Amino acid sequence: MITPNHNPWHPNDWQSELKQAFRQPKALLAYLNIPNDAANGIDLQPDFALLVPRGYAQRIEQGNIQDPLLRQVLSLQSENERTPGFVVDPLQEGNAELGYGQTPGLLHKYQGRVLMITTPACAINCRYCFRRHFPYTDHKPKDQHLALKAIAQDTSIREVILSGGDPLLMNDDGIAALIRDIDALAHVRRIRIHSRLPIVLPERVTTDLVTTLASARCKITMVIHSNHPNELNETTQRALACLREAGVTLLNQSVLLKGINNDAPTLIHLSELLFDQGVLPYYLHMPDRVVGTAHFYLDDLEAQPIYEAMREQLPGYLLPRLVRELPGGIAKTPVNFAQKQVLSFQASA
Ligand SMILES: *Cc1c(COP(=O)(O)O)cnc(C)c1O
Ligand code: SF4
Repeated sequence: MITPNHNPWHPNDWQSELKQAFRQPKALLAYLNIPNDAANGIDLQPDFALLVPRGYAQRIEQGNIQDPLLRQVLSLQSENERTPGFVVDPLQEGNAELGYGQTPGLLHKYQGRVLMITTPACAINCRYCFRRHFPYTDHKPKDQHLALKAIAQDTSIREVILSGGDPLLMNDDGIAALIRDIDALAHVRRIRIHSRLPIVLPERVTTDLVTTLASARCKITMVIHSNHPNELNETTQRALACLREAGVTLLNQSVLLKGINNDAPTLIHLSELLFDQGVLPYYLHMPDRVVGTAHFYLDDLEAQPIYEAMREQLPGYLLPRLVRELPGGIAKTPVNFAQKQVLSFQASA
């Protein structure tokens, strides 16, 4: 039940917050008192537009071009560099031969789980995004009935994952209708929502949304996407408390990103703050080799000491699983350093 001190928001709050979001690099820089000089390498006309809600911009330190939240959202000239090995679709989600793309809007790569593209839109444009080049026009939300039909016909599906874009950018009626349609498929037991909105636009947690989630037949999990402890504040705490009271299981996934969170103290602090706000760490993703994101990239050798330090200092339940996604894989692939040590021990024995 919803207690009075955990109040969801009115539906107009997030809509107006989104309308006022920063869409021009110059306006964001002016707000943050950061000079737009050439040395800062800012791209004022990026192909992948800048989009930053004001509530998120408020969590960025004034005057600091290196701020870890700013670096996630500010368009830089380095995005226009081409690096060998960094491609448009590293996961080959557009490759029909790997079994994707048979039904528009559905990615069925793993057993028992299907991922549904609900909307191409996001409330924030993350510069490291692996879907920044996704062919959303081939996966139109109006095809949702086709996706639902395909799920209805495949009784091996136990879990429907709502992804995007950001599924919570659908309006309250749209989400309620979609969850009702999925609830009607008796073989589906779980609905998982992957959304960055509880972090970047917490006002999205409205009374209607909370009611929809609380009354669903399927068990609801929400995987939020937070990469840095500075992203968490009283507003995210309020949103997450509302979701928990609606019976939603809260998990977090992060991407390991150079210049943003590639140090153990930051990630340990993130895990602890997430838990304070009722969220368990789920995955820490190695970055994908997406064109335009090479400046964020870390390899396994760089990731290893960071992850080892996390493992030494965190209780097991606060340690996210370090994984990467490989095209054609049957699941996320664990990045397993311990195994390497065993292998080298065997090799030298
Ligand atoms: C990541 C992913 C999933 C979910 O994988 P989990 O390990 O269950 O979190 C499902 N489908 C697709 C296409 C994915 O990329
Ligand atoms: S919210 Fe997710 S899908 Fe949207 S831009 Fe950021 S990383 Fe990409």
